[in-house]
Amino acid sequence: MIKTHGYAAQSATSAPAPFDYEHREPGPKDVHISIDFCGICHSDIHQARNEWGNAIYPMVPGHEIVGTVKQTGAQVTKFKVGDRAAIGCMVDSCRVCASCKAGEEQYCENNALVLTYNSRDKEGNITFGGYGENIVADEDFVLKVPSNLDPAAVAPLLCAGITTYSPLKHWKAGPGKKIGVIGLGGLGHMALKFSHAFGATTVQFTTSPSKVEDAKKLGADEVSLTKEPNWHAPHVGSFDFILDCVSAEHDVTPYLALLKRDGTLCTVGIPSTPIAIHAFSVAAGRKNFTGSAIGGIKETQEMLDFCGKHNIVSDIEMTSFDKLEEAWDRVVKADVKYRFVLDLKTLKSK
Ligand code: NAP
Ligand code: ZN
Ligand code: ZN
Repeated sequence: MIKTHGYAAQSATSAPAPFDYEHREPGPKDVHISIDFCGICHSDIHQARNEWGNAIYPMVPGHEIVGTVKQTGAQVTKFKVGDRAAIGCMVDSCRVCASCKAGEEQYCENNALVLTYNSRDKEGNITFGGYGENIVADEDFVLKVPSNLDPAAVAPLLCAGITTYSPLKHWKAGPGKKIGVIGLGGLGHMALKFSHAFGATTVQFTTSPSKVEDAKKLGADEVSLTKEPNWHAPHVGSFDFILDCVSAEHDVTPYLALLKRDGTLCTVGIPSTPIAIHAFSVAAGRKNFTGSAIGGIKETQEMLDFCGKHNIVSDIEMTSFDKLEEAWDRVVKADVKYRFVLDLKTLKSK
């Protein structure tokens, strides 16, 4: 077994604290990664605090993982010891259903998706994520990291990156399209970078006056401060697609009014409470309200390669394990520009 030291939440109300645990001994197709960096996703907080009602404790969060290969199983072909490697939100699936075969493992139809943490593997063991020294996973769920990119700033691409890249691709963001992004947090700032890189006209919606100038630098053609009166008036009926990246309860009705006929509002944000929509808001204009979850492994590698080619990484603020709780509280207050990344060297054992 691979003895590991990390940080775990033991209940919905206890802050993450030092915790020792084990990962499985690497099997023939497994890669053992020594973790160097892990991004802090708002989903870590939702789950550790049981805001989605699905928490399994002890919980070692973290699904934006970049590290160094320490050991490989005999049948591993993609990686060798010393390579940079990355892991995102999932580490296994059934691999035989239509979704898995289509490279959309996140939508596994056999209820066999194994998430990187807060999940159970095929043997029924709790999975532990990136807030710890090591991880072991089948190479089919391990990603290659472009060598030209800063590995710490790559970490958030493994969730915030793919979760925004995938729907923007699916709904064909590109030249001639007007795209909106709601919420300039970890996901939002990656959505903005990708939409801009794809050549779409991109409008950022934010509640934070302090982020307006940044949004322009990150690629927004226009920024709408949604605390201003009549903020939505100039944009009514003009968007092809809007990506909602907000973590907390908010009213989506004004955004549905901003869509063109047949336009789509897609939520990737997953607040803890249901989203209310009056039927009129979608009936008038035949509008679509939908959602999207992360992205498949093949598309995650495509996204990483795209980032390598276009020099795209996350804008990060490095943090340490002794400031973890403070970092979480700042994420909840929308006070991070734009993703915290844990440096695993700050774990006392490293
Ligand atoms: P984040 O960094 O905290 O960003 C959320 C942003 O939402 C904030 O920066 C803020 O942007 C805005 N916001 C916060 N509270 C708000 C409120 N009360 N009203 C309006 N806007 C508010 O979070 P994240 O890591 O990007 O994650 C965003 C959401 O996506 C979370 O719910 C997370 O669980 C979910 N998620 C889903 C998937 C998926 O596969 N679907 C994957 C990853 C994460 P402004 O300051 O600009 O207003
Ligand atoms: Zn995430
Ligand atoms: Zn499947």
